[in-house]
Amino acid sequence: MRIENLCVKRLIGDVAGATTHGHKIAIKGGYIYQTFQGGYTLSPLGWRVVRNIENIIRSEMDAIDGQEILMPVVSGADIWRESGRYDTVDVLAKFKGRSGTDYVLNPTHEEVVVDFVKSVLETYRQMPFMVYQIQTKFRDELRARAGLIRTREFIMKDAYSFHETQSDLEQYYNRCLHAYERIFARCGLQNVVCVMSSTGDMGGSVAHEFQLINDMGEDTLFLCDCGFKTNKELIDEETEACPKCGAKMRRVRGIEIGNIFQLGTKYSASMNLTYTAPDGEQKNPIMGCYGIGVGRTMAAIMEESADDKGPIWNMATAPFAVEVIGLADKEGKTLPLAEKIYNDLRAAGIEVILDNRDARAGEKFADADLVAAPIRLIVSAKNLANNALEVKYRVNDVDTTEMPTAFGVDTYMSDIQSAIQKLSK
Ligand SMILES: [Zn+2]
Repeated sequence: MRIENLCVKRLIGDVAGATTHGHKIAIKGGYIYQTFQGGYTLSPLGWRVVRNIENIIRSEMDAIDGQEILMPVVSGADIWRESGRYDTVDVLAKFKGRSGTDYVLNPTHEEVVVDFVKSVLETYRQMPFMVYQIQTKFRDELRARAGLIRTREFIMKDAYSFHETQSDLEQYYNRCLHAYERIFARCGLQNVVCVMSSTGDMGGSVAHEFQLINDMGEDTLFLCDCGFKTNKELIDEETEACPKCGAKMRRVRGIEIGNIFQLGTKYSASMNLTYTAPDGEQKNPIMGCYGIGVGRTMAAIMEESADDKGPIWNMATAPFAVEVIGLADKEGKTLPLAEKIYNDLRAAGIEVILDNRDARAGEKFADADLVAAPIRLIVSAKNLANNALEVKYRVNDVDTTEMPTAFGVDTYMSDIQSAIQKLSK
């Protein structure tokens, strides 16, 4: 990709209306564009980051034996009436088709997945299993705020597991909890905590939220030195006393990026999803469900790690691994070399963006801070005189003090590959 062809509003966009630091950076860098209040178009930059996050999620869901599926955005109202949630979920957007059919835009997919699993599940031998999807949801929220933090339409990973026994559910729930820890760590998020939460609209007994501790968060969390962590729903806010040890807990703000629920048989019973148990009886499977806000995870990374210049991605989430910047010289050597390096990296399958524009160095560097490729390669007359290319790193989860500050003009390919490897740890 050449930076002049990148389909984003000119980098360093207008940030009027942005309410948080991360939101400001997302707009300034052209990652998102507001199509309507609470609905965003992801630019090629934003979509590259989101796709990277999706792939991290996919690999961890597959590692705990998840099976990816895709359910529709729209469903008939009938399955929502069946579960009893048609009139109780306030964010459910309803509409009528021309033939008079009642439809909903699914804000979550318990009803849809149970309807699907009814067509599949026959006997206990098929369980346990988990299906998941990465897909668009719509919630008719009364208010939207802070860019991708609270939107009406959003991309979510939602997973649903099916079990014979409560203990089997609990075992799987813990596997999923650890998978979530790995996902957020691989995304480069530093201050994520897993807190107990209430089950709210979802029903069921036990639930946890994954929260990024951040002042921009809209949730209030309470953390105790004894290890107990909860959101405000589960304690008496007057005393702020730990229900476990009695000590006064620490109050912090959080951005919810994931949640997991032990649902029990709420949906399988109300929608009559059954299987044949070993004793021949028809039983309702016990369910768990597991969500991650994908766009919100990108927003959370920006809130946590962006500096005044732009976002800081890690090698796993960055829209490009390498940016090559050519600074024009009188001899006409630098720009063709930058072009050659760009083509070589592309041929090697490395995600690379080239800035050979006729622009001032300062402008190029400012834009590079917004694209935030972890490795920035500068081809300038000054360094070329020493047969070298200047290297800058933009990461915060790897110590780069021992890494080279220049690559050789003859060895850049292997130098870049080894730098990518070091930054990928
Ligand atoms: Zn405590």
